[in-house]
Amino acid sequence: MASNYRDVQVVVLGGGPGGYAAAFHCADLGMQVAMVNSDPRPGGVCLHRGCIPSKALLHVAKLINETTESSAWGVTFKKPKIDLDTLRGWKEGVIGGLAGGVEALCKRRGVDLYRARGIFEDSQTLRLDAPDDSNSDLPTGLRYQHLILATGSTPAMPGIFAIGDPRVMDSTGALELADVPSRLLVIGGGYIGLEMGTVYAAIGSKVTVVEFTDGLLPGADRDLVKPLQKRLTTAFDAIHLRTKVESLKATDKGIEATVSGEGAEHGAQTVYDRVLVSVGRRPNSGGLGLEKTGVEIDEKGFVKVDATQRTADPHILAIGDVAGEPMLAHKASREGKVAAEVLAGEPAEFDNVAIPAVVFTDPEIAWCGITESEAEAAGRKVEVARFPWAASGRAITLGRAEGLTKMIVDPENERVLGVGIVGAGAGELIAEGVLAVEMGAVARDLAESIHAHPTLTETVMESAEVFLGHSTHLWRPPKK
Ligand code: FAD
Repeated sequence: MASNYRDVQVVVLGGGPGGYAAAFHCADLGMQVAMVNSDPRPGGVCLHRGCIPSKALLHVAKLINETTESSAWGVTFKKPKIDLDTLRGWKEGVIGGLAGGVEALCKRRGVDLYRARGIFEDSQTLRLDAPDDSNSDLPTGLRYQHLILATGSTPAMPGIFAIGDPRVMDSTGALELADVPSRLLVIGGGYIGLEMGTVYAAIGSKVTVVEFTDGLLPGADRDLVKPLQKRLTTAFDAIHLRTKVESLKATDKGIEATVSGEGAEHGAQTVYDRVLVSVGRRPNSGGLGLEKTGVEIDEKGFVKVDATQRTADPHILAIGDVAGEPMLAHKASREGKVAAEVLAGEPAEFDNVAIPAVVFTDPEIAWCGITESEAEAAGRKVEVARFPWAASGRAITLGRAEGLTKMIVDPENERVLGVGIVGAGAGELIAEGVLAVEMGAVARDLAESIHAHPTLTETVMESAEVFLGHSTHLWRPPKK
């Protein structure tokens, strides 16, 4: 068959939150754009096997947990009955609706969507491999002036855990919700493991988390993790820190895990019905033919980019998970917009100082800007003002007084350098912190902005007042 290459101004390779944000912005800026995505529908990991399905299930988990907690307020419900088919169907409906929205936006903006796997032939040519026979009118490839690489990442599955048994799952498998395992082992105490553990515990699994380091959520400040760990200690069957899963073995009775370290005393070999391996993600930079381009890759597999998202190849930019940490959807979309503006000749750069991190557990943890531990490690002088939610009227009305809001401030100029929150809804509350850090606000700006009462947002204002030493609240901060 004769080869048939189409010429396009800009190709976006990958249809996740980085890719589609870049494609839409390029189109809005007047460029002719094609988006190539190997999944059946656009949306990427975020929409199909990441952020959205996990948050849909976490919403259900929260609802289930509230039905038991409400007994403390004199309201009791019967034990919820879980209809897995309906639950799965609802989750798929959420995904389907949003994927349809991305497709519609492609059409509306004139972005050509190719369902294919793209492989580089050289710096300006991408071959298109159809994932199946369904796409007969697919061109052989695309020739472009510029390409934005947005191929994302994949769950890491270390060889010792890859035993080829479907009962050993990665996050994608766990989100499928094949059944409710009586005993679930979660390997890795990062945000994905804890979020999925929360879902499975709520629907009836006995969850054991094994974490190699000495704390859950490495990277988060310990005072933020404490209230979550306390709650998870009740919700989960066991949390074993400083413990390593050495091997997994498939047996008729389940998956036998051999562990070593502190948690081993609870049973060096234990059998679980399912195992979730959540030990990190790897950038999708291999097998793309990038060696035929000038793109450079670092030792961890991330594509090297500068602040304008340009790679070492003048025709190729890279964004999102494939272009480095933190691997988060909102960082991917922001980089996508920067890349589009760079191609439009605008003086754009990824110069954001605050990329929020949110752990959607119960309670949620969120932070932005510098963390207290980062400041400590860098030997940077900061002042930390804490406002405990036990003094927040709103938190008490919600029965969630275990939270904490803290502000990390530069004592020299009173600038807000970081904000950390643990508590119900922390993921929404952090937005104010992001704005404060990004705009270079001083603590007084937050303290003197009127926050509606009674809301949890007041805790951000109160933490600023704690820093200024004049909290008017019933709770008195320690004297400076
Ligand atoms: P991706 O979303 O990975 O999309 C890449 C796309 O490129 C995919 O569709 C892939 O099929 C396609 N592709 C790859 N190679 C090719 C090729 N050669 N040709 C054509 N197409 C290709 N982040 C958050 O910010 N908040 C959260 O709450 C959150 N929760 C998560 C929960 C889970 C369980 C997981 C796994 C991840 C979560 N993330 C979350 C991370 C988030 O999903 C990623 O950071 C985000 O999806 C990265 O976007 P991206 O555009 O870089 O790539």
